[in-house]
Amino acid sequence: MLIAIDQSGEVISLAQQPDEQMLGKIRASIYFCPACREPVILKAGAVKIPHFAHKQSHACKSFSEGESARHLKGKSDLYRWIRSTHEVKLEAYLPEIAQRPDLLVEEKTAIEYQCSALPAALFLKRTEGYRQQHVFPFWIYGGPPIKKQGPFYGFSLFHRLFFHYSPSFGFWLLAYCPDQECFTLYSQLTPVYPSLYAAAVQNIPLCSLAYPPAFDAASPFQPFSLSDWFLRRERWLQQQIYFTKGLSGPFFHTVYQSKNHPSLLPLCIGLPVRFMTLIKSHPIEWQFYLWHDLLAYQENATAEEAAAVIKKRIEKGDVQLNQLPLCLSPELPEVMEEYLVIWRAAGAVNKEPCRTVCEQMERKTAFIRNFEEFIISRLIF
Ligand SMILES: [Zn+2]
Repeated sequence: MLIAIDQSGEVISLAQQPDEQMLGKIRASIYFCPACREPVILKAGAVKIPHFAHKQSHACKSFSEGESARHLKGKSDLYRWIRSTHEVKLEAYLPEIAQRPDLLVEEKTAIEYQCSALPAALFLKRTEGYRQQHVFPFWIYGGPPIKKQGPFYGFSLFHRLFFHYSPSFGFWLLAYCPDQECFTLYSQLTPVYPSLYAAAVQNIPLCSLAYPPAFDAASPFQPFSLSDWFLRRERWLQQQIYFTKGLSGPFFHTVYQSKNHPSLLPLCIGLPVRFMTLIKSHPIEWQFYLWHDLLAYQENATAEEAAAVIKKRIEKGDVQLNQLPLCLSPELPEVMEEYLVIWRAAGAVNKEPCRTVCEQMERKTAFIRNFEEFIISRLIF
C-alpha cells in the first residue's frame, strides 16, 4: 500500500516519489494501516518503490500484502499522472460497498490497475459495486504483455473482462506498462478465431496523454481477407471434429440431425460481423442456430426475433456470450441486425447448403468476389 496514517490520523502518501530525507523522517515515525489500524512499516528496497506493509502479517481485509513491484509502481505513476490536473485519491475506501479502488478520481471514476489474474466473479462484483455507487469503473490492464501471433493478438477470457466499448473505437482495452511508462491501446478488437483478435494498436507514453484519456481515431486494424476467414472457419470445424468432443456437442448434433454436413453449410453461416465480440461461441455456431431455428423458415425475420432465438439457445447452453462487464452496449439485437444486413444482401444460393465440396469451392470464390469488401468494411468502426 502507498498510504498510511500517523498517530493523529493524518494520511501520508508515498506516491509523490519521496526523497531520502523524507524517507528518513517517515522511518523515524510510527504509522498505521488506515483500514485495520495495525502498525505498518516503511519498506524501501531496490526492487519495489517505497511502500508500507503491515508490521506483523495478519489478515487485513482491506489491504492485502504482497502487492507486486509492478502494481505499486503503476499505481503511483497513474496517481501522479491524474493529480497534475484532477482531484484524485489514492487507495480511498468506499464504505458502502467495502471496496478500495487503486485510484478514485473526483469521486466519480474508480481506476483499478489490475496486474494479476482475478476471478471473473470478483471482477464482476467490484464493477457492479462501483456502478451501484454511480462511480464509473475504469479497469486498466497491467498484466504480462498481450501475446502476438502473426498480425493478430491473443486475448484470453481474463483479458476480455477489460474490454470497454465506444462507438468510435469499437471494443478496446487499455494496458499500462510501468517499466516503459507507456500505455498501449488496443482498439477495434475483432475476433478472427476464438481468443485471437485483429486490433488497431497504439503505444502512447504516459507523459504525452492527458487525463481523462482522449484517443485519436485509431488506424484501422490489420485487415484480414474473407478467404483467410473461410480457411479459419474450416480449421475451426476440423479442430472440433478431431481434437475435442465437438461431435457429441449440441452444434454438431443439430447439424447432423438436420441432415446437413458441417463443411457444406450455406456460405452465409459463419461470417464475421460487427459486434460479434459480444458472443463467445464461433459465428458458425450461432449463425447456424439462427438459420436452423428461424431464417430457413422466415426469410424476413427482424433483429428482435433473431435475438429471441439466440437468447433461447443461450438459455439452453448451446451459445455462450463473452463476459464483458464493462460494456453496457452494444446488445444482442444490434449483433443480429448486423448479421441480417449481410443475410439480406447475400444471394439466395448462398443461403442454401452446398451439395459437394467442388460446388462449395466455386460458390466461395464468387462469394468472396461479390461480398468481401462489403463484409470487411462493415467490421471497421
Ligand atoms: Zn490493515
